[in-house]
Amino acid sequence: MDDVRAAARAVLLLDHEGDTDEALKQAHVLAAEHPKSAIAQRLVGDLRYAAAIRAAAGDGSEKEREAEAAVHLRAARHALLATRRLAPDCVDVAVALGDVFCASKMYGLAESEFRRAQRVPCPVDPADNNVTYGLYGDDEDESTAAERVEEARERARRLYATMTVEKLVPIAVERVLDVAKDHGAAEGRKQAKRVAESFPNLARAQYLNAYMDLEFVRGLDATIDRTAFLRRTLTIAERAAQAFPKSAVIASFHARLLFVLGEYDAAERECRRALVMKEPDDPQHDCIPPGSISGENRGARLVSLACEFHELLNRILVLASDYWNSMTSERQQGFLFVRLDVLQGEYNKVDQLRAFTVSDVQSFVKEKGSWRYWVCPICVGNKKFLDTGLLLSHMCSKHPRAVLPRLQSVLDPKLTEKALEGDDSLDGLSFCQDSDQKDMITFDKRSDLFKWLFYAPSSGVGPKPFAEIRETKRHQGNMLLESIKERMKTLPADKSASEFAEALPEIHNLWHNFLRASVMDYRAIILTLARSFLWKELKKCMTEDQKATAKFISAADIDAVFTKEDASIFTKEDDTDGALKITESHEESKVHAADESSETTGNGTQLSGPPVNVTESVDDAVFTKEEASIFTKQDDTDGALKIIESHEESEVHAADESSETAGNDTEQSGPPVNITESVDNLETKAKNLQIDPNSDGSIATSEACSSDQNGQQA
Ligand SMILES: [Zn+2]
Repeated sequence: MDDVRAAARAVLLLDHEGDTDEALKQAHVLAAEHPKSAIAQRLVGDLRYAAAIRAAAGDGSEKEREAEAAVHLRAARHALLATRRLAPDCVDVAVALGDVFCASKMYGLAESEFRRAQRVPCPVDPADNNVTYGLYGDDEDESTAAERVEEARERARRLYATMTVEKLVPIAVERVLDVAKDHGAAEGRKQAKRVAESFPNLARAQYLNAYMDLEFVRGLDATIDRTAFLRRTLTIAERAAQAFPKSAVIASFHARLLFVLGEYDAAERECRRALVMKEPDDPQHDCIPPGSISGENRGARLVSLACEFHELLNRILVLASDYWNSMTSERQQGFLFVRLDVLQGEYNKVDQLRAFTVSDVQSFVKEKGSWRYWVCPICVGNKKFLDTGLLLSHMCSKHPRAVLPRLQSVLDPKLTEKALEGDDSLDGLSFCQDSDQKDMITFDKRSDLFKWLFYAPSSGVGPKPFAEIRETKRHQGNMLLESIKERMKTLPADKSASEFAEALPEIHNLWHNFLRASVMDYRAIILTLARSFLWKELKKCMTEDQKATAKFISAADIDAVFTKEDASIFTKEDDTDGALKITESHEESKVHAADESSETTGNGTQLSGPPVNVTESVDDAVFTKEEASIFTKQDDTDGALKIIESHEESEVHAADESSETAGNDTEQSGPPVNITESVDNLETKAKNLQIDPNSDGSIATSEACSSDQNGQQA
């Protein structure tokens, strides 16, 4: 028998050297001479499988390639079945045979081989029947037989999981969709439920259940209100979203369903959750119909989903806008009274230390007659300056190295006052009390606060801890002081010099920028808190109103949010399905849901993909773009935008927002205001994306499968 082993090795080496045809020929000769040798039969099986893969990827028309691959696969199966008869207790043979069955689209047989690999009670040493072990060195001595058995079993689990995700479930899904098309959504829904039960750990199977339930609801008689039915669908979708928190596909379905049901706040939250999802699954693995989310790689597919989320967020904004406009003037005004304890509650959500209290602000405003103050950015102290002149003289006398005392003689306090006044568009806020003597704050509707409120949720600049705001301002203040100092250094001493006159406006400008950047304006903080609260309130009112009027949800309402996918997608998917199309296995490919046990799910859910947070990076750019469109849309009147533009908070955020916006509280977070930065961000991140170009198409899978074996052979 050692002769056979040596001869088999020689054939394998010949194959590795590239003389594949000759190797195949010799392998067949060897197998014919030693029909009782598992090694010889196995060799033929392996080489034939490799030949099938080469043929599938080779020259000629698709039909020719398929036909040639089919011939090799049939021979490979034949040889490996013979090997199995000779070595029934070999786990490694079971894996090889399962792999070839899978490539032949005989999934049921593949499954039973992969399972058999786990069950063989007293497995023999895989190296007994496969000369690839230790072919090039001492591998065989380095691992024990038990380790080789375990390694083969692990390979079986992996191949089975891949087959489940890439073949079994997509086939089951398509079958359910076909059933729905031919026999109605009610029947499809029933079968979808069964598929979901068979693959509890696979996102696509769970999604199918929700998807078909919606199809069923969609198809109900036109006179039926779908609300109650959609609630049931929502339960299924919610469960799926919880079970698969990294599925952007399911999140999209869930968010859209919430939207149709008028649950706007929840819909927005789901969108935001998806947009900051870490390492989202490839939509290709769970979309329905399979292949319906196009894009040449995972990143592109996630981008198309991100667009969906932004579109939905946009719709919510538009609805809210209409809703607001439909309100009576009194109701609008009533909306703009907010109790201080409510605002405090909003703040406390972001700062457990509660370093900011609205009642302190109230006292401050009452006492000082002002909403704003400055602190010296250089001192550690906390002295509040209400007067910019006093701030300047403090800095010049206490920190003459950082702020050259000469600055005092250069600046014109009147100009400063004027510059700051011109910026002051945070007016429109005042304290008051309600009928129960509760302290409130009210926003003047004329200040167009509402539009600002609208802009805000989409920008998502939410409340921040006071200490963080202060630190940002201190940092920016110091940077600007530094640039003033630099400019001062080259300022001629002679005030009558023309360079002096030329430099003056610039220095003034820098100083004003410093004052704007470092001012602590309580109104900015309160507005941010109010915005976060009011936006939620508005959505809540919309939802409640919709419920109160018992809005009838029709099929058209569903269609407006869930676009019908084209049936032609199936054919498309089939075409890309790869070259290993073997016609003879038709009946085999009917394997599906019904006979899968829960064991199926083993490692089935471990979808691989590069650990890159794609949606997040996408988020920044898409969001900002969209924001810009809302911006322009609402740009008719200038009130709101003025507030935004001059809003110190926004300016400050622009610089540092992007990395933090995601935060934990999706409701209060959002993308940056700074467009260019986000786009750059996207580009940089996109460059870093390592998308696996082989992640689609079954031939790639087959290659991947076989490379496992080749890996051994090599
Ligand atoms: Zn100081």
